[in-house]
Amino acid sequence: MPFLRLTSQPLTSPYGWRVLPSAGRTFHKGADFGFSYRMPISVCGDGVVTEAGVHREYGKYVRVDHGAGVTTSYHSADELCVKVGDRVRLGDTIALAGRSAMGATGPHLHLGLWLDGQHTDPLQYLTPGETRPIREPEAATASITKADIMNKIIRIQSTNRGIALLGPWGYRHLKTDREVAASNAIIDLHLNGSDAEFDAWKSLVSGWQK
Ligand SMILES: [Zn+2]
Repeated sequence: MPFLRLTSQPLTSPYGWRVLPSAGRTFHKGADFGFSYRMPISVCGDGVVTEAGVHREYGKYVRVDHGAGVTTSYHSADELCVKVGDRVRLGDTIALAGRSAMGATGPHLHLGLWLDGQHTDPLQYLTPGETRPIREPEAATASITKADIMNKIIRIQSTNRGIALLGPWGYRHLKTDREVAASNAIIDLHLNGSDAEFDAWKSLVSGWQK
């Protein structure tokens, strides 16, 4: 299971729409954190370096594959400390911070979190300075049993059913983004599957749910 730790450096520009003097209204596909010049950048979790180089927009950057569809990217470095194919462990220094990204006004880390190739807000999944599980590998999610639910809190999701928690107390539908975000801190496992899989998972608690 990919465990990621988010830097505790201060957030300077969040994920989402923003207006830049240089580029107008653009979507920021990551979160920026204030770093001093050439401060070491630690990788968020164990993985393999899949990209390390220079990009027109990103500047000097690294991308790391953590498995289970989870990747992270690190932009705007002054110097890279790894190369493609390197295996890295959580906390390893992979680069030194800089301002090589296009439009950068100072040294910073631009961190991207990608789930199955989709960019997402790192702060929706991670808390600064803390290590969190992001998701289980696919193989481990294929079958869950009633016994799992007696020991874990599992969040299930599908396109048409929405998002719900399964736990020792039964089934609970999550109705708002706020409830989903709050559940990040308590879940042991997140399953994202088809509607049929959702129904199968839900059926594990039917008959004894509250
Ligand atoms: Zn950025």
